[in-house]
Amino acid sequence: MLSPELSKVIDDTVDQERVALAKLSSDIHANPELRFEEHKAAGWIAELLRARGYEVEQGIAGLPTALRARKGNADGPKVAILGEYDALPEIGHACGHNLIAASAVGAFLAAAAVAHHTQGEIVFLGTPAEEGGGGKIKMIQAGVFEGLDAAMMFHPFDRDMLAHTALASMWLAMTFKGAPAHAAAAPHDGKSALQACMDTFRLIDGQQVRFRDGVRVHGYVTNGGQAVNIIPELAACEFSVRARDTVELARVRGIVERCAQAAALASEVTVEIVVREGYRDMRNNMTMARAFGEHLGSLGRKARETDDRVGAGSTDMGDVSHVVPSIHPYLAIVDENVALCHQHAFAGAAASDRGFDTTVHAAKALARTAVELLVDDQLRSSVRAEWSAEKT
Ligand SMILES: [Zn+2]
Ligand SMILES: [Zn+2]
Repeated sequence: MLSPELSKVIDDTVDQERVALAKLSSDIHANPELRFEEHKAAGWIAELLRARGYEVEQGIAGLPTALRARKGNADGPKVAILGEYDALPEIGHACGHNLIAASAVGAFLAAAAVAHHTQGEIVFLGTPAEEGGGGKIKMIQAGVFEGLDAAMMFHPFDRDMLAHTALASMWLAMTFKGAPAHAAAAPHDGKSALQACMDTFRLIDGQQVRFRDGVRVHGYVTNGGQAVNIIPELAACEFSVRARDTVELARVRGIVERCAQAAALASEVTVEIVVREGYRDMRNNMTMARAFGEHLGSLGRKARETDDRVGAGSTDMGDVSHVVPSIHPYLAIVDENVALCHQHAFAGAAASDRGFDTTVHAAKALARTAVELLVDDQLRSSVRAEWSAEKT
């Protein structure tokens, strides 16, 4: 249980920071930076935290745009609040990570304000490159998540959900190499790398009947040839492969690789496949998610536990959830089905008043949940017990 007095201090602190948080959110939104290049965003976050008297470590885990701040008793329980701030190519902050950053900073400032009433420590982690860079994975490898009792963040969406599936994922980059020839005068002398590349897409489409529920395979051509009058000597494509668990992911990876090899065989070209590990599936800690939901409810928002009508993506928070009990709730910044992440309209919503109001709710509920975890030993051990029971 969290006392009404602590809840009030937390809520008041977030409210007092509204102007600073809104500026942080809109500055990040107006200056979209791609994965690992979020220098302005990381700088603004560090500046605000320092202005409030907190020490900030920038460039942790060997990542120039990762950062950390702490408040409280380093020998006690520890809860981390995570902020993302990277944007997408072409469509800017269409995933709303500017709001995630502002909510995490707000939640940290509010929880830190009452940290002396707990036996534990509140940790802010600025986690770069969620969009395809896996910044959190690098931070896990560097030991940043060791010793934490819980990790949490919020993600903007089109509805309120305490938890949702996030798929295990990987990327396959394929390079086809054939033989060039004049495309009109001597096409029979050529071996088309592009043909093999396109056949790969068709073969994979044909295999969809064998995929389990939740599998997603989607790709794009990264090199489509050299000139219109040359049989393409080189062609390349990249696929993202996702599944609900790592076993199905490995099976589908095998199918995708065989499709590429079969296509290469048909066109007498070679194919080189480079696999990049992606993200793990998300293990939502429902004990913690429900505690977050209680706080959200007292702030006037009633969230569903989850919603099976909604499709699933992937996040490097999934990797975090395998090393520390974690939540990744979603809160609406638009009406249901009006817009979703990675759409232009969602980028607009990430700069809207409604988007910011949601961010304020998220900051309060995250801070309350984090502090509750530090003061309530029973809750912390229930969270740990659920996580340990699921761990494989
Ligand atoms: Zn995204
Ligand atoms: Zn996102």
